[in-house]
Amino acid sequence: MATLNVNKAEFIKSAADPRQFIHTAMPKVAFAGKSNVGKSSVINRLLNRKNLARVGAQPGKTIHVNYFKIDDKLYLVDLPGYGYAKVSQAERDRWGKLMEQFFAEPGLFDLGVMIVDARHKPTADDVTMAEYFKNTGCRLVVVANKLDKLKKSEIEPNMALIRETLKLPETVLLIPFSAEKGQGREVLLQQIVELI
Ligand code: GDP
Repeated sequence: MATLNVNKAEFIKSAADPRQFIHTAMPKVAFAGKSNVGKSSVINRLLNRKNLARVGAQPGKTIHVNYFKIDDKLYLVDLPGYGYAKVSQAERDRWGKLMEQFFAEPGLFDLGVMIVDARHKPTADDVTMAEYFKNTGCRLVVVANKLDKLKKSEIEPNMALIRETLKLPETVLLIPFSAEKGQGREVLLQQIVELI
């Protein structure tokens, strides 16, 4: 079985513009989620890092696509967070344009990892993001983060609500996850390792 040394991770670049998007035959995994859902924390947990993806960096302010190379085998593509209430219309428009450009271009990623909050019904923005991913036809997994904040009895109904709200086909894996505690890490990692 293929192995991936997640400890070997390097920041490559921030793309603010489609001309800076990376085209390569290497597999690419795109991470998306609303601001504050814990996207940076999930990435850091996955890579055994404290601070590779900046945790809590000004929600909504960084409208860039950030590229990291892992073990010279694949790229991790960190899409800008969305849905932060306090951003200006101009920032929202910038986000929308960049994401339209990203999703319109084929070959920019091979696997989508969409992160939602395990506690709540996905937002309208989450639904829109899931549509973007589903429309590409690329493989998608959904990570339900902050699992540690749920009571055991809440897990199943919440997972069902997420699946139903995002209209996830049976083929889409929904992973209960806690960036804080580490639950779900192995399952997510396995999905990624399968690409190489
Ligand atoms: P991002 O904006 O999506 O990158 O979110 P961050 O990674 O900066 O996390 C936002 C906040 O949620 C921070 O205060 C994190 O400590 C917290 N957080 C992230 N993941 C978890 C988790 O799995 N459980 C709990 N309890 N808190 C989390």
